[in-house]
Amino acid sequence: MSRVLIIGAGGVGRVVAHKCAQNGEVFSHITLASRTLSKCEEIRDEIEKMQNVRIDTEQVDADNVEELVRLIKKVDPYMVINVALPYQDLTIMDACLLTGVHYLDTANYEHPDSAKFEYKEQWAKDGDFKAKNLMALLGSGFDPGVTNVFCAYALKHYFDEIHYIDILDCNAGDHGYAFATNFNPEINIREVNSKGRYWENGEWKETEPMEIKMVWDYPQIGPKDSYLLYHEEEESLVKNIKGLKRIRFWMTFSQSYLTHLKVLDNIGLTRIDPIEVDGCKVVPLHVVKALLPDPASLGPRTKGKTNIGVVCEGVKNGERKKIYIYNICDHQEAYKEVCAQCVSYTTGVPAMIGAKLMCEGKWMEPGTINMEQLDPDPFMEELNRQGLPWHIIEMDPDATFEVK
Ligand code: NDP
Repeated sequence: MSRVLIIGAGGVGRVVAHKCAQNGEVFSHITLASRTLSKCEEIRDEIEKMQNVRIDTEQVDADNVEELVRLIKKVDPYMVINVALPYQDLTIMDACLLTGVHYLDTANYEHPDSAKFEYKEQWAKDGDFKAKNLMALLGSGFDPGVTNVFCAYALKHYFDEIHYIDILDCNAGDHGYAFATNFNPEINIREVNSKGRYWENGEWKETEPMEIKMVWDYPQIGPKDSYLLYHEEEESLVKNIKGLKRIRFWMTFSQSYLTHLKVLDNIGLTRIDPIEVDGCKVVPLHVVKALLPDPASLGPRTKGKTNIGVVCEGVKNGERKKIYIYNICDHQEAYKEVCAQCVSYTTGVPAMIGAKLMCEGKWMEPGTINMEQLDPDPFMEELNRQGLPWHIIEMDPDATFEVK
C-alpha cells in the first residue's frame, strides 16, 4: 500500500488520478497537485462521484524546487508521478532526490526557450538516483512508454535480434473543430514543427518537417496519411535494442490539420520567442494556445479510435521474422470511464501502470531507467487488465500494411 503524489492536473493527470483511485489496493493515498488548485478540486470531486474514492489536492509551482520539496515532505509519498509539462522534469527530479522519493514521468525534458527534447539532462542524473537507491522511470506514457515495452516484449518472446522498428501512431478521432490539438497545444505544435529525424545504419538522418509521407492501413481504422517525425523513444531504443539497423516514427495528420498549421507558421504564430505588441511582450505560440480549445474539453465530443503500435522485423533462429503489436482505444469508451479522450487515456493508464509496478516492487531498479530496460511481461499483463488491451499479428516478413 503506497502513498502517491501526482503533479499536473491536465488531461493526463485526470486519467492518472482516476486510474490510481481504481487501484486502491496499491495506491492507499492519492494527492493531486498542480499550478491551478481549482483544476485539482474539479478532478477530486469527479473521482469521488465516479469512483467513490476521496483524494487530496494541493497547489504547487513545479518550476520551484523549494516549493516542491515542502510539498513532498508534507505529503510523504512513496513516489511522484510527474504529468505536468516536460519543462518541469528536472525540477521535480531534483526535488525527489532531495526528499528521497521515487520518480516517474511521461515525456522527456524540454527547455521552454528551445523546441528540442533529449534525454541528456535526465540521464545525467542517473548517478544521483543510483547513489540514493532511487528509481526514476522515464517516459511511462504510450509513446514513449508502451511502444518501448512493445519492443522489449517483441525482443524477449519473438526475436534473437530486431533490425527494423517502425512506430505507428494514428489518431482517427474527430472532435468536430476545424483545428484543435489532442494534448497540450504548445507541446504538440512544437513537436510537429520540428525537423523529422530517423536512425539508420548507425547515424541520425534529418528531414524537413512532414517531408516523408506514407499511407498505412491501420487495423480497425483503415488507410491514413502517416508522416515521419522524430520522437523521443527513438533515442533510448537505439541505445538499448542491440543490433538495430533502423528505427522510424510515424504519426497521422489530416490535410485540414496540416493546412491550419501551415497558415499559423506562415504568419509567425507558432514562434516561441517573445515579440512586442502594444508595449507588452507576448510569445505568439502562447496566444495560439490561449485561443485553441482546451484539450481536456475535447473528451465529450471526440468520436473514433486511436491505433498505436510497433512493427518489428528481425531474425529468430536464423530466419527472418516480422510482427505488428498494437492497441486500439475508443475515444467515447475512454470518456465514459474517466472523462477523458484517448490521447490522455493512452498516456495516463501506462503512467499509473508504471507507478503500480514500482509500488509493488515488480519494477524497481535504481537510476534513470527507460521502459525497454525492464521486464516487459508484468507491464503487458497490466495493459490488458487496465483498459489498453493489445494485439499481435505475426506477418510474412515481406508483407506490409503500407498502401502502395
Ligand atoms: P495539459 O496541458 O493538459 O496539463 C498539464 C498540467 O500541468 C496542467 O494542469 C498545468 O497546470 C500543469 N502545470 C504546468 N506547469 C506547471 C507548473 N509549473 N507547476 C505545476 N503544474 C504545472 O497537458 P497533458 O495532460 O496533455 O500532458 C501532460 C504531460 O504528458 C506532458 O508532459 C505531455 O508532454 C505528456 N504526454 C505524453 C504522452 C506520451 O504518450 N508519452 C502523450 C501525451 C502527453 P495549469 O492547468 O495551471 O496550466
